[in-house]
Amino acid sequence: MSALNKKKQNDLSHHKNGEIRLSGRAVSRGVGVGRILSLFGQKRQFYRIKLENSKIEAEIRRFRAAVRLAKRQIKKISEQKSGKSQTGIFETHLLFLEDASLLSKIEDFIKRQKVNAEWAVKIVTDGYIADYKAISDENLRDRYIDLEDIAERLLTALGGGGKANIRLEKDTIIVAKEVKPSTLIELVQSKPKAIITENGGWTSHTFILARELNLPAVTGMKGILRRVQSGENVVVDGFSGQVILHPKVETLRQYKKRATQIRVENPTKEDLRHEEIKTLDGQKIIIRANLDFTKDYAEAKRLGAKGIGLYRSEFLFNQNKGFPTEKEQIEIYRKIAKIVGDDRIRIRTFDLSVEQLAGEMREREKNPALGLRAIRLSLAQEKQFRTQLRALLRASWENKLDIVLPMVSDVSEILRAREILEQEKEKLAKRKIKFGEMRLGAMIEVPSAVFLAEQIACEVDFLNLGTNDLVQYLLAVDRDNEAVSDWFRTLHPSVLRAVKTVLQAGEKCEKPVIICGEMAGSSVYAAILIGLGATELSMNVHSIARVRKTIANIAFEEAREIVKELETCRTAAEVEEKVRSSFLEKWSHLFGIENLPV
Ligand code: PEP
Ligand code: MG
Repeated sequence: MSALNKKKQNDLSHHKNGEIRLSGRAVSRGVGVGRILSLFGQKRQFYRIKLENSKIEAEIRRFRAAVRLAKRQIKKISEQKSGKSQTGIFETHLLFLEDASLLSKIEDFIKRQKVNAEWAVKIVTDGYIADYKAISDENLRDRYIDLEDIAERLLTALGGGGKANIRLEKDTIIVAKEVKPSTLIELVQSKPKAIITENGGWTSHTFILARELNLPAVTGMKGILRRVQSGENVVVDGFSGQVILHPKVETLRQYKKRATQIRVENPTKEDLRHEEIKTLDGQKIIIRANLDFTKDYAEAKRLGAKGIGLYRSEFLFNQNKGFPTEKEQIEIYRKIAKIVGDDRIRIRTFDLSVEQLAGEMREREKNPALGLRAIRLSLAQEKQFRTQLRALLRASWENKLDIVLPMVSDVSEILRAREILEQEKEKLAKRKIKFGEMRLGAMIEVPSAVFLAEQIACEVDFLNLGTNDLVQYLLAVDRDNEAVSDWFRTLHPSVLRAVKTVLQAGEKCEKPVIICGEMAGSSVYAAILIGLGATELSMNVHSIARVRKTIANIAFEEAREIVKELETCRTAAEVEEKVRSSFLEKWSHLFGIENLPV
């Protein structure tokens, strides 16, 4: 849970001269004022687009092509599945896709309403689904499930293989059940003003990206999609977690003013005077950047970042286009490595779940976080992994580039990955293709890796400590599920113990440990991490100034003393209480009660 923004979500909604004020959980700072755009869909997210008359025919052709693609997919899957019941399901799906009345209703909707095919599919199938749900015969009623599947498949097929070319209106505020990271990456080109979602946690990738992009966000807004319509005015306060629907003119004016007044934390020349970042008593701390957009590195460097501690390569995977090719990857890795230079970039190999891949042929996983993801997926589907390793090797020629393996659970995955890496090196050497020296690192983010941190540290050149997943797996709390966010206790005693164990393992084996989870980018947590012995913190560019200022104003010895006390606590609540009292006692010049865990 965000200790800083732990605003309890409740149903505090009240009308005030027509305004509706709702409280959610603030997960990315800032204020956004704009008009709502409702986003729908699971696999591929979409919204209503009004079309000009001249575009209607092409839209219908696009819809027909999607129907053909969906049919081909279903035929292919049903050939692969032998089970009788499953064949039956696919036959039903095909019947729907051949149902002239359904298809012509969708086409008519596109024509009459002049809207995009995605929107027509949603509205028409929603109507059918509601009708089926009202049927008393159970067997017939359950057809709505098949229709939901068909609608989802059609929506995915409408994505085709092409690049989505989405242009949002100015001042758009995105409202959705959840926003997928890939959708956000697409939408962000048109500079939305904020995000409101029903679901997601402080460490969800979407909100990690939102913070990286300085995009205000509030989550935990249950049922929001049912209460709003695209085009309505809305205010989002990413500090307090407040969302104001139907704001009065005066409220809009106040918040617009506030949005322009928010000062981006910009350290003075004096703050940046020293190249080295040290605590008051001289403990040197290295700050690195968690960075996914090349353009941001210059700013990170200006603020004092030494290289990139975590580059999440999976953000290059595109829902419509799939994996980037070897050539595309070489270009991207090379470009960013050149920009970063001697301070090195640590590129994490694809941390994807099997569900995120091209999807249609796969069964849904019940627990994707515990499923075929990250290094497991790479080792299970070696082809893509070998392509990525080759791209990384080739990009490392004359560049300083390291690789990090995600979700390692013991040394076996490292040994196998290294074996594959060596084979790819040999093949490149045979082809006389040059490559550089890459260091190999491992993410420590699952409990088994914490217990084996020493053994793992011996096998690699450095460790990256991922506190987001570490909290998720240690406490068995889904980081993407807002309903359990009260159990996502970053300051749980077991988390502090695990962090310390990993730091000690790194020290013993003389291997650097870079803390790169969201904990590192919060001033409060950073002070605690330093007290636990951390010397390398990797964070998003917008956190650097704040954390740097904290480091320069605390003494390492004081942080150590506080942590010693925290280590006597038995519960997260006790730790949080001690953090409040000791931070206020020692560092009241830096921390007010409003930015301490509440
Ligand atoms: C982590 O788990 O802490 C981490 C840095 O990786 P991600 O957030 O991408 O899972
Ligand atoms: Mg992780």
